[in-house]
Amino acid sequence: MTETTNQTLWQRREDAIPRGVGAMHRRFVREADNAEIFDVEGHRYIDFSTGIAVCNTGHANPKISQAVKAQIDKFSHTCFHVSPYESYVELAEKFNQLAPGDTPKKTLFLTTGAEAVENAIKIARSATGRSGIVAFKGGFHGRTMMGMALTGKMVPYKVGFGPFPGEIYHVPYPLDYHGITEEHALNAISDLFKSDIEPSRVAAFIIEPVQGEGGFYIAAPSFLKAVRQICDDHGILLICDEIQTGFARTGKIFATEHSGIEPDLMTVAKAMAGGYPISGVIGKAEIMDAPNPGGLGGTYGGSPLGCVASLQVLEIIEQENLCHRASEIGGLFVKRLTALKESGLDCIGDVRNLGAMIAIELVQGGTDSTPNPQLTADVIKQAADEGLLLLSCGIYGNVIRFLPALTASDKILHEGLDILEESLRRLV
Ligand code: PMP
Repeated sequence: MTETTNQTLWQRREDAIPRGVGAMHRRFVREADNAEIFDVEGHRYIDFSTGIAVCNTGHANPKISQAVKAQIDKFSHTCFHVSPYESYVELAEKFNQLAPGDTPKKTLFLTTGAEAVENAIKIARSATGRSGIVAFKGGFHGRTMMGMALTGKMVPYKVGFGPFPGEIYHVPYPLDYHGITEEHALNAISDLFKSDIEPSRVAAFIIEPVQGEGGFYIAAPSFLKAVRQICDDHGILLICDEIQTGFARTGKIFATEHSGIEPDLMTVAKAMAGGYPISGVIGKAEIMDAPNPGGLGGTYGGSPLGCVASLQVLEIIEQENLCHRASEIGGLFVKRLTALKESGLDCIGDVRNLGAMIAIELVQGGTDSTPNPQLTADVIKQAADEGLLLLSCGIYGNVIRFLPALTASDKILHEGLDILEESLRRLV
């Protein structure tokens, strides 16, 4: 028998799995523990990717693992539509309390982020009787047909997959660093209402409070408030997609809380269950009740394994004060990354964060702020060789995003940042 190595597994993967399934790293996981991953060859990596903002509570968190194991021994699936169970109800009650704003809420559980987005749009259309949806350029909302239609980036997400559902419109997201001001973005909404769709036919706006895949661009509270006002003026619903930003990542349970607005609907997934596939739509009760019985749900929606895992995540966030820890981690990263930029690494064009949703934008350097996707790819490869797992993002492919576990120690975060520094210095 041939030895199992990253190389042999990669070859098997290439032969067995379509190339459309993206691959950031060619290292196959044997096990993972809190902020570390160990591959099949025994190499250790510090993980700054947390499976794309999922394991905020650390890999293989023992409290979550124990709760899931206990649930498996009782039952793993009954389908909530057929034989309901308490954990689904308890989790919905908790989310309804945690969601921003005073309006009574209800919550529906599903399986993936894209499915949550699909359902938020169904609910918004059902509640308003309108069809139009406004999304933002650079935004990402999933790989289903509606998810792709809402996503504001062609390559690699949409190419060749159309036609998409109609009545979807994209407007610019404010990108300070690239000269797209809030005013510009708001004017584009006015233009849209003049030239493409009258506001009375728009069911909802969908916005990420911090764009995730799009490049970790942060919508200022003033912008979210302005969008909220536009929605209120025209009877349009506001959907905040918190799939990447949620569950303590930005220093609050939900990033929307930083702005003080109350969304009508919110989509959640990823970190809500620390690695178990479950997602949700939380919304104002009256709106959530618009679809008829049987119109919402799915066989695995709100799986009991996901529900008990998510209840643990909420407890861990509270007990370990992870919102505060996210802000601390953000401060630690920004301090070090800014010091790197100021120490002559002028390929770091921008350092930004909301809590522990942290990014650097890599550019040509000197006076040239042209995005540098090649350097970004090289740094990620170099860092992986040295034992640090990073992720890129961004409409120009030149952003390195840092999503460490919120349970990681300062020591391991500094160790990871040392590797990043070494990789950058070696390449520029
Ligand atoms: N919305 C946002 C903001 C996301 O970041 C993602 C996933 N990256 C999705 C939706 C889709 O989630 P999933 O991959 O679980 O379908």
